[in-house]
Amino acid sequence: MITVHDKQFRLYMTEQEIRDAVTRVASEISRDLGDKKPLFCPVLTGSYMFMSDLARALDFDAEMCFVKYSSYSGMSSTGVVKTVIPFPDKCRGRHVVIVEDIIDSGVTVETMLSELRKKEPAGVSIATFLFKPDAFVKDFKIDYVGRSIPNDFIVGYGLDYDDKGRSYKDIYVVSEV
Ligand code: 5GP
Ligand code: MG
Repeated sequence: MITVHDKQFRLYMTEQEIRDAVTRVASEISRDLGDKKPLFCPVLTGSYMFMSDLARALDFDAEMCFVKYSSYSGMSSTGVVKTVIPFPDKCRGRHVVIVEDIIDSGVTVETMLSELRKKEPAGVSIATFLFKPDAFVKDFKIDYVGRSIPNDFIVGYGLDYDDKGRSYKDIYVVSEV
C-alpha cells in the first residue's frame, strides 16, 4: 500500500508486467511503422515515462516532440481540454503517433485529433499504455494498448494524483474513494 494525499492505493501492475506490456507494444509499432519514419507526440505530463521506455524498446531511432493537453483535476476529468503545448508544424506530411499514458473517456484524445488534423499529417496512430474501455464514450480507433483496465483511478508510472505519485515504478489503484 502507498498513500498519496488523502488516499490509499494498492499495487496493481508490477514493474515487470509494465516492461512486458511496453515490449509488446514496441514490437507492434516497430513492425507496423518502422519504415514510415513516424513522429511520436507523447502527451505531457503523464506519458513521459511510457515514452521513455517505449523509445528504448523500439527497433528504430524514434523522433519525438512532446505536446501538452490537460483535462484532469483531482480524480476526475473536468471535461474541458486545455491546449498547453500544441502539435508542432512539422506534423505536416508525417505519420504521427499520439502517445498517451491512459485513455479514459476519450475526450482528450478526440480534441487532440481534431487539432492534429489541421496540421495535415500523412497518417495518425494512437498508442496508449492504459485504456479504460468501460469509461470510453468516443469512437476513434486506438491502435496500440498496453493494458485495458477497469474504471478505477490509478497512479504511478507517470500518472499523478494532483501532482503526486508520478514517480513510482509500479502502478497502483485507489483502494477507497
Ligand atoms: P480522458 O480525456 O480520456 O477522459 O482522460 C485522459 C486523461 O485523463 C489522461 O491523459 C490522464 O491525464 C487523465 N486520467 C484518466 N484516467 C486517469 C487515472 O486513472 N489516473 C490518472 N492519474 N490520470 C487519469
Ligand atoms: Mg494525460
